[in-house]
Amino acid sequence: MDKAQESYYWLDVAVREITAKYPDGEIVVSSGISPSASYHIGHFREILTADALAWGLRKAGRKVTHKHVVDNFDPLRKRYDFLPQDYEQYVGWPISLVPDPFDECRGEHKTYAEHFYREFEGYARQMGITELEVVRSYEDLYHSGKMADQIEKVIDKASEIRQIFKDISKRELSEDWLPLQLLGPNNSFDELSYKSIDTAAKTITGVDEAGGEHVLDYTLGQVKMNWRLDWPARWQVLGVLVEPFSAQEHGAAGSSYDTGVAFSEKVFGYPAPMPGVRYANIHMVGDTKKMSSSKGNLVTPEQALKIMPAEILRYFVVRSKPDRTLFFDPGVGLFNLIDEFSQIQEGQKYLEFKEAYKFATASAAEKVITSVPFNHLVTTYQTARADFDEILKTLERAGWKPANDKEVDILRREVEFVKNWLDKYAPESVKFSVQDKLPSADLTDSQKSFLSILAELVEAQHEVDGQKMHDLIYEAKEKAELSPADAFKALYRVILNQESGPKAGWFLASLDHEWLVKRLKLEQ
Ligand SMILES: [Zn+2]
Repeated sequence: MDKAQESYYWLDVAVREITAKYPDGEIVVSSGISPSASYHIGHFREILTADALAWGLRKAGRKVTHKHVVDNFDPLRKRYDFLPQDYEQYVGWPISLVPDPFDECRGEHKTYAEHFYREFEGYARQMGITELEVVRSYEDLYHSGKMADQIEKVIDKASEIRQIFKDISKRELSEDWLPLQLLGPNNSFDELSYKSIDTAAKTITGVDEAGGEHVLDYTLGQVKMNWRLDWPARWQVLGVLVEPFSAQEHGAAGSSYDTGVAFSEKVFGYPAPMPGVRYANIHMVGDTKKMSSSKGNLVTPEQALKIMPAEILRYFVVRSKPDRTLFFDPGVGLFNLIDEFSQIQEGQKYLEFKEAYKFATASAAEKVITSVPFNHLVTTYQTARADFDEILKTLERAGWKPANDKEVDILRREVEFVKNWLDKYAPESVKFSVQDKLPSADLTDSQKSFLSILAELVEAQHEVDGQKMHDLIYEAKEKAELSPADAFKALYRVILNQESGPKAGWFLASLDHEWLVKRLKLEQ
């Protein structure tokens, strides 16, 4: 491709960099998350970013595997608020050995890690992430003996490791410090300290507080490397060439990516993968802190997918450069997001984001949403009192008709999003109900005259769409010499019994023509 035509969408840029660095062979892209609590959409920025890189590389003709590591050998760090009191006893245990804390599904999931891992699987499927090879840290890396060589190297090169910590992270470590966690007889990583290794027998001997010795088989998931070493060890074992990661968690100077690069090259003898991209956090709109399971300021994919299709959630996550913090707005901000997506779908606007749209809709077989703007749908839903047939009629009155049965199905799905949005996230200011009876309104003479002129103008027309209605309202307002504010107040007062309401042109056009004329004449 000629330079002038090159796309500067972040994904295209990243794909060009990756293919230049790795011109031949298969490319392994990796992501990884600990299943220590519910997954929220911030976690999915990592997985979707990796998935997007894999998709882009495949499109560029490369063979790619996306290996997602489920860090289920991580210890339970503390008793989180959602855990029962007696889970205090499991702090320090690997979460793949802690029982599922939820009674209702304990028969189904054997362990804590399994519970959240299954949740992850369900979300990934719902979000159209299908080409994923899942690697469970405990079963697939440690319990299968795949990390044995790396564990031996860590012990062999312990003093170099301590020096790297000192040089890169400014951390002073004692002479006997080792980046290993030994699984004790009570399943905790906090019981034993290292004594010796027998590389022929593949065992490590640990000592408990009372001086008792315990022999552990490090090919059978009884010894784990600390995160700082575990990460580069897994790059080598899985052959990772590209891995996006959180700039905030791992990207600061001296933090785990920097030490990971040094450990990978100097301890394990494996060239460190390129980052691919460093991504930023996702916040709730107006929140200065990132989404977090422990703070509860989060949206899970399941919650988000109740108010938008997966394609739009994917679009939200990948449209901006990964290093920009994203703000998820489930309130009126949702209108803009959905409408932007719709304009790209219709090939009208925002074409600079069409590559993001292509990835977002990669597995969609048809149109994702109708061309009705989301705010119109919110208005229509309430005008039609949630009745689907009435919604269709109301939309037709305002000038929108479905092209075919498929589009009716898409509309039906969208109406469900509107319903959930109104139930849970809509601000009071967008909610209304059309009054069956004429409210007792205190109107000025000019307001009354405006309504009556508008009634005549509307009555004289056979069909009035949103734009036409808008024009008629302005014509009537001019004739009655009324300010726009007083004109709109009069309309909302007699129809909704409130001072404000949805965009008047579209809204009035969606009401039954005859009913509207009578109401404007203040007859019913
Ligand atoms: Zn469960």
